[in-house]
Amino acid sequence: MGKIRQKIAIFMQGRYGIDHIYLTNLVIYFIGLIFLRRIEQRLYLDILLLVLILWTFYRVFSRNIVKRQAENQVFLRVINKIKSTTKLIFKRIRDIGTHRYRRCPNCQTQLRLPRKVGTHTVKCPRCDNRFQVKIKI
Ligand SMILES: [Zn+2]
Repeated sequence: MGKIRQKIAIFMQGRYGIDHIYLTNLVIYFIGLIFLRRIEQRLYLDILLLVLILWTFYRVFSRNIVKRQAENQVFLRVINKIKSTTKLIFKRIRDIGTHRYRRCPNCQTQLRLPRKVGTHTVKCPRCDNRFQVKIKI
């Protein structure tokens, strides 16, 4: 066991290894393998899954570590953007009867305002900027 582990360690020297993209791709690959192929048995799906897994392991064994890290950073930024947008959508739905969400035009902070129909002047608690807000319903 020790010898195999040592050989793997030597082989992986200077290579990128695993990251968030690797884990995500693996999950997508197995979902594709187990579920999608049952629904739709098409050649293009098999090719797509093969390309995905080849790309995934190409990244793991890649020696261009800087580039792979940059790719992972972009991936994480996109994932975080999706997460925060989803969170905001759920908040807006939860508060639909009582509050409205507006962004401060100066500092882009998301403000949760009480639902009072009409035009109001709002003061941003973060940057003290005052701006007009129109709440229609
Ligand atoms: Zn502000």
